[in-house]
Amino acid sequence: MGGRCLVAPFAIAELPLSIHPFRPQIDAMTQSPDIQITASAPTRAPSAVPVDDAALPFEVAALDLRGRLTRLGPALDDILTKHDYPAPVCKLLGEAIVLATLLGSSLKFDGRFILQTQTDGPVSFLIVDFQLPDRLRAYARFDAARLKEGQDSGALLGKGHLAMTIDQGADMSRYQGLVALDGGNLEDAAHEYFLRSEQIPTRVRIAVGEEWRGGGEGPKHRWRAGGMLLQFLPKAPERARPADLDPGDAPEGAVTHEVAEDDAWVEGQSLISTVEDIELLDPDLSGERLLYRLFHERGVRVFSPLPLRAQCSCSRDAVSSMLKSFAAQDRAEMVKDGKVVVTCEFCSSVYEFTPHEAGVE
Ligand SMILES: [Zn+2]
Repeated sequence: MGGRCLVAPFAIAELPLSIHPFRPQIDAMTQSPDIQITASAPTRAPSAVPVDDAALPFEVAALDLRGRLTRLGPALDDILTKHDYPAPVCKLLGEAIVLATLLGSSLKFDGRFILQTQTDGPVSFLIVDFQLPDRLRAYARFDAARLKEGQDSGALLGKGHLAMTIDQGADMSRYQGLVALDGGNLEDAAHEYFLRSEQIPTRVRIAVGEEWRGGGEGPKHRWRAGGMLLQFLPKAPERARPADLDPGDAPEGAVTHEVAEDDAWVEGQSLISTVEDIELLDPDLSGERLLYRLFHERGVRVFSPLPLRAQCSCSRDAVSSMLKSFAAQDRAEMVKDGKVVVTCEFCSSVYEFTPHEAGVE
C-alpha cells in the first residue's frame, strides 16, 4: 500500500454475488410525471437545441416501445481526462458509462447503480458508480503491456463477467444482476442480460468518440458519447416472447413450437439498427431530432431529460475514516516521507495526512 490507494472499488468489488433480477426499465416510463406532450399540447416540433449530459426518456406508443437516449459531452470528458488512460481504455470506459446511464437513469430512488466488469483481458476491471439521480464517476484497471493497436472493446475485456448492482442504501437489500462476458462487447452483454434475466426484448446502441474542434488556441480535444436503449413492452406479455431458439438436438420429426417475433418489435429493431455512431455523437444534432428522424412515422413522445454530471463522492473525512479501518501495522506501512498520501482512483484527488492524523503512533 504505497502512495496510491483505491478508495472505494475494494468495498464494491467484494460484494457477495447474489443474483436477483431487477426491472429498472418499468419505472422510468410508467411513473414519470414529466410528460411534456399531453392532451392539451398534443404535438410540437422536435427541439433543435442539443442537450448534452442528459438521458432523454421516450416512448413510441404505436409500437409499444420505450427507451432512453443518452448524450454525454463535458461530463464524460471530465471523467476521462482526470485519468491518464490510453485512448482505447477511455473509449471502453466511456461505453460502460453510457450503458450505466441507460440502465440506471430509470431508477426512482436515492441510491446507487453500479456497473462493473471483472475479466481476463487487458482491461481487467472497470467500474461505473452512478449515484442517483445524476452523479457519475468511473475507474478502469488495465495492463498497458497487453494493449494493442486495433483492439475492440470485446478484445479489451476478454472473458469474465459484468455485474450490475442496485444499492438503495444501508437498510435496504442490494440487488445484483450478472452476465457472462465471452469476448463480446458491452452492447452484446446488455442484450444477453435482458434476454436471459429479464426476458424483455431489448436493443442497445453505444458510441464513444473523440471530437476535435478548432478555435483561438488551436484544436481542442474532447470526448463525447451517445447511446440508445430500446425495449419492447407490450401490455400482453406473450407478445414479448423471444423467437424460438434453434431446437438443437431435438429428434428428427419432433413437433417444434414455433414463435415468430412480434411485428412491432421487428420494426423497432430494424429502426434502431439504422442509428449510426455519428448520429449518436453529433454535437449539433439534438436528441429530439434524432428520435424524430427514427420514429416520426409512428409518433414519438419524449419526457423531460434527466441531467447527468461528473462528480466524485470522495472527501477528506471519508478517506480519513477509511484509513482508520486498516490495521495499525498497515497504516504504519503507508507512511512515506513523513506523510500518508491517498489518491482517489475515481477522480485523482490527492489527500495528504500527517502520521498522527492517519492514526499512526
Ligand atoms: Zn474522488
